[in-house]
Amino acid sequence: MSSQAPQPTADIGAILARRAPLVDGAGRPTQAQAEDAIRTLLRWAGDDPGREGLLDTPKRVAKAYREWFAGYEEDPEELLARSFEETDGYDEMVTLRDIRLESTCEHHMAPILGRVHVAYLPAGRVVGISKLARVVDAFGKRLQIQEKLTAQIANTIDRVLQPKGVAVVIEAAHQCMTTRGTHKTGVTMVTSRMLGGFRDDPSTRREFLAMIQAPRGFTEG
Ligand SMILES: [Zn+2]
Repeated sequence: MSSQAPQPTADIGAILARRAPLVDGAGRPTQAQAEDAIRTLLRWAGDDPGREGLLDTPKRVAKAYREWFAGYEEDPEELLARSFEETDGYDEMVTLRDIRLESTCEHHMAPILGRVHVAYLPAGRVVGISKLARVVDAFGKRLQIQEKLTAQIANTIDRVLQPKGVAVVIEAAHQCMTTRGTHKTGVTMVTSRMLGGFRDDPSTRREFLAMIQAPRGFTEG
């Protein structure tokens, strides 16, 4: 081994990794281990993690992963736990449409981008609408397949809120399909899960589908 001081390259990360404990409290790899893994992928792609432009990339990617996979830190049921009963007997459909979806495909770790429409038929209780969007994020910001994501959102709202019905429709483009493999651009995948009144009553389902297809006339504010 040379006694020279280490060069200011990616080796510093490797040294820090050796100092760090093996795993953090949650049994996960440490930040340093994650950054090392990213350096491995950079080398595997054919580049040099030690060149200037890539020096901070492992740190940036690890930080980005915290955002892309923030859903693992969330409890979707807890997000819906606080609901309101003072609704003056409102029992019509509540629909939240065009919720932005940012997820990651569990087969290729490629982005899934699209929109989600969520509706439910209250049975005496309603939730703040931002909570529905947060449930979408809590499941979306994990490794997913669209079918499971659709079911998880619908089933969780059904279980916690116990409404008369839940409907979830997701339209999304999968970058594992558009930027690689079959390279089919402009293709979106549509999935839906209908529970309760949305499943049993065709007119309720039609009303929901018409509502999410209606022109977007008022989107400001
Ligand atoms: Zn994929």
